This record gives sequence, C-alpha cells and structure tokens, in this order.
Amino acid sequence: MVEDCLFCKIVHGEIPSEFLYEDEECVVFRDINPHAPVHLLIVPKRHIRSINDLEHGDASLVGRMFLVAKKMAEAENINKSGYKVLFNVEKGGGQVIFHLHLHLIGGWDRK
Ligand SMILES: [Zn+2]
Repeated sequence: MVEDCLFCKIVHGEIPSEFLYEDEECVVFRDINPHAPVHLLIVPKRHIRSINDLEHGDASLVGRMFLVAKKMAEAENINKSGYKVLFNVEKGGGQVIFHLHLHLIGGWDRK
C-alpha cells in the first residue's frame, strides 16, 4: 500500500468502489472516465508503478491479468464483437494513475 496512490486506496477499500471481479491478486472496476461503452480496469492488489517496474516473479500475475480481461470481456458480452486490452506506460504513454492497470475497452458495436 502506497500513501496517496488512488488505486491502492480503492483496492484496500479506503475509497468505495464496486468491484466487478476480485481474486487474491487483482480486482476489476469500471474506469470513472470511460473512453468507450465498456471500459474496465484490471488492477493488481500489490502496488507496482508500471510495466517498467515488473520483475521476473510477476510473470504469473501479468498472465492472470490477461485471463481476467478475457473473462470480463465475456461477462460484458464484448468478446465476440471485439475489444482492446492496453497498458499505458508512464506519462508519455498516457498513464495517469501510477499503479499498474490493464485497460479493457470495447462495446462500440455489440450486435
Ligand atoms: Zn498503488
């Protein structure tokens, strides 16, 4: 837990948030500033700043995040229409909250 990290506060329940999914390593909630009809964030419970800070031992965590993204795409019914999964890395890459998170974005056309 890192002081004044918004996502650490959400993960630890200091800021109320609705988790669409939770397991021992990560949670999923909706982006408060969505860029698409479906815009979810897959967030590890442990504070990791960005992709730049990943270590070898984090391989299973990152793999899990992608499998959770797949599961959530099915739950949101965007798996067939298609979606994006995206890590923004540091300011130049569009990262705004410096706690690792995977964007799941889609739902433009769910026919
Ligand atoms: Zn954090």
